[in-house]
Amino acid sequence: MSLDSIRQIPKIELHLHLETSLRLRRLAERQAAGSSADNPSLIADPAKFAGYDRLRRIRYASRAGHVPDALYTPDNIEQITYELLSETAAHRSTYVEVRVGGRRGFHLLGARRMLEAMARARKRAEDAHGIRSRFIVTIVRERGPEEAEQRVRDALACHDCGVVGVDLAGDEENYPPTLFARPLALAREGGLGVTAHAGEFAGPSSIWTAIYQLGAHRIGHGIRAVEDRQLMEHLRERGVTLEICPTSNLRLGLVHSMSAHPMRLLLEHGVPMTINSDDPMLLSTDISKEIESVVRTLALGERQITEFMAAAARAAFLPEGERAALERAVSGAVAR
Ligand SMILES: [Zn+2]
Repeated sequence: MSLDSIRQIPKIELHLHLETSLRLRRLAERQAAGSSADNPSLIADPAKFAGYDRLRRIRYASRAGHVPDALYTPDNIEQITYELLSETAAHRSTYVEVRVGGRRGFHLLGARRMLEAMARARKRAEDAHGIRSRFIVTIVRERGPEEAEQRVRDALACHDCGVVGVDLAGDEENYPPTLFARPLALAREGGLGVTAHAGEFAGPSSIWTAIYQLGAHRIGHGIRAVEDRQLMEHLRERGVTLEICPTSNLRLGLVHSMSAHPMRLLLEHGVPMTINSDDPMLLSTDISKEIESVVRTLALGERQITEFMAAAARAAFLPEGERAALERAVSGAVAR
């Protein structure tokens, strides 16, 4: 399948960060240059680091954190969200869950203003491009359980802005899930979906605990589930879906090549999986490129790609009826 034909397939994406500071930086540079040129040149690959350290280095190399506070305005947040949704819609994404966790934005604007600005973009993008979207609030492990609880309360209070879930991210090895059991219980009780970055930098036990201690409905990455047969079986039986982000794993040195990516084994074991772009600007990727690399690595056809999209519809943080409608929409699109 060519990249062009892949672009035509209706898509759903569940693991996509807003990359707030990076997008604000691009916005500011564009305004300063008075042009619409995009794509800042940003990636100096710090190859000697691996895993989460490498992610930190890549972010640092991108100068993502070096944007002035003054850029955190509701108008700019609306604009970068609109740009992300428009870029995603250009790949025929029909539904996307965007996660946002920038501490400065929440701190400087307040959660409500931040998410209201994003909600305005959500409406504009749906009107202009027909793309539907929901938001997930990211909790960063290193910032501790108290901030986590505040973020959950923010998410619950902004349900009307399209917030449907929370995501646990950050340093998985040094901040065990148990620290966040209480805030995430609060999230579940309030009807939010829970996803956790796990089994990315740490092993299978991190996925087990994300499921049992945090009640995670989905797992961000989770590729190290491949090391534990019983866990793969559990994921399959319980329908706990992995949000696979192939380029991200490769760039962070978690897999040495696409052909060595565990997705083949995970697929063989029937683990529910979706395909995602994670941090597309930081990693120079997009959802079509991600699908292309999966197609090429696993020698898949269009029917199987549609299966991935149907799995994403089933795992979306939406009410049951909307999930079913979404599944029909992506499955029916290639029905012959
Ligand atoms: Zn992520």
